Amino acid sequence: MRENFEQTIFTFTSVIIGMNESGKKVVTIMIHIYCRSKHGNKDTLCYECEELKNYAQSRLEHCPYGDNKPTCNTCPIHCYRRDMKVRIKEVMRFSGPRMLFVHPIETLKHFRKEYKRKRLF
Ligand SMILES: [Zn+2]
Repeated sequence: MRENFEQTIFTFTSVIIGMNESGKKVVTIMIHIYCRSKHGNKDTLCYECEELKNYAQSRLEHCPYGDNKPTCNTCPIHCYRRDMKVRIKEVMRFSGPRMLFVHPIETLKHFRKEYKRKRLF
């Protein structure tokens, strides 16, 4: 009984961590693709993109939805600052389709989540 409980907690925790991490990963990859193509940076980010990445990650960290965090498209809370929202939208529009070729698995996971969300509500 106790072992089962601990196992459940462990599974639950790793699912949450996994999801948070994958959310951050998606955002980071998207910003890297954007900065490389638009600003010509190979492995590093320019100041503006670095700022955007840090902002996006801190938004994810403070997201009240935790493991049930929807993707930004379907999120009822618009937590982004206005200017940051404009920038991240631009990045997503640009990098979204390109993601599929560079990181098909991450992209599919992301869109599967979004699909599930839309069906739920
Ligand atoms: Zn940049």
